[in-house]
Amino acid sequence: MISNNQVDLDVLIKACECLKEYFVKTNNTERKPVEIFLALLSQSTEYIESGYVASDLFFDANDICRRSDNVKADYLAAKDFITRHRKGFDKLVKDNIKDISHFCSLNNVGYLPIIKSTDSSGGHKAYFYIDLIPLSDNITLEVGLKTKRSIDSVVIEYSVPQLPKAVTWAKPLLNLKISGWKFYSYIGLPILAFVIAYCLLLWNLFALSNASLIYTIIMGSVLGGLYYLLVPFYEAISKRIGIAPVWLTKLKIVSSQLRYVRTESKRSNGKPIRALQLVVYQAKCPICGNEVLIEKGKYAHKGRLVGVCDESPREHIFSFDHATKRGKLISYVF
Ligand SMILES: [Zn+2]
Repeated sequence: MISNNQVDLDVLIKACECLKEYFVKTNNTERKPVEIFLALLSQSTEYIESGYVASDLFFDANDICRRSDNVKADYLAAKDFITRHRKGFDKLVKDNIKDISHFCSLNNVGYLPIIKSTDSSGGHKAYFYIDLIPLSDNITLEVGLKTKRSIDSVVIEYSVPQLPKAVTWAKPLLNLKISGWKFYSYIGLPILAFVIAYCLLLWNLFALSNASLIYTIIMGSVLGGLYYLLVPFYEAISKRIGIAPVWLTKLKIVSSQLRYVRTESKRSNGKPIRALQLVVYQAKCPICGNEVLIEKGKYAHKGRLVGVCDESPREHIFSFDHATKRGKLISYVF
């Protein structure tokens, strides 16, 4: 139904936040066209945080009117209002494009958010959404126009179509900024486990009894269980990205990753505080066009994450670099 299901949510959020900052700095936030954009942005952000995919981020005129405190009597009035101010938004951006481009480039943002709508002919409701266009011709059109790429290329480009929500009971494990005592408990837990295991071993060596054996078995199971539960988090923290355990996400998400992202806050030594975040990296196979999902590498690629094609999982295997979102075709055996 809508065309922006290839939009990368990381890029979308960054570009929108940058434009928002521009409007704040230039005292434009009180203007109706900007209000519409900000309403659309806050609604989209809420959806992204709730785990919706990029292609779900479209809203009807009533939604946006309500969100921007411009409630209208009926749908038609709301649609007219949004359509009018959407044009105003286009004009405002066009009139200031030089300034905006400059501001975006200073913030390392290469894309410009625009408001788009779906076709409303034939009595369908029109839906509005934010799309991105590249700010400079030097930037490849990787966000909006991925399908136009030549499929002969063996370079693969990954995108982030979703930041899924964790299952309710696991939320406290994520969403926390890892600093202070949390950081020390991250280091402290394995040490504690080691000390307990060592004490139990000594106890068994010097005074083997039923009690010592039972305690060892119980502690062994507890520590083993904890290891199984926590190892993906440790991997994500030390390697910056790992495969998310299946129990962390809702069933309909086939494959997701855990990444350790920088937050806005800084530690006392100036380094950014990081937090764990669930994310889905995906790509289209440049060889056959099927879906590529991220998996743990096997055999020669042990210890790496690789992109594996759904159609040809033995041959269409790609390297995966979450920082550049790019990869190359790699073969199984060197
Ligand atoms: Zn393939």
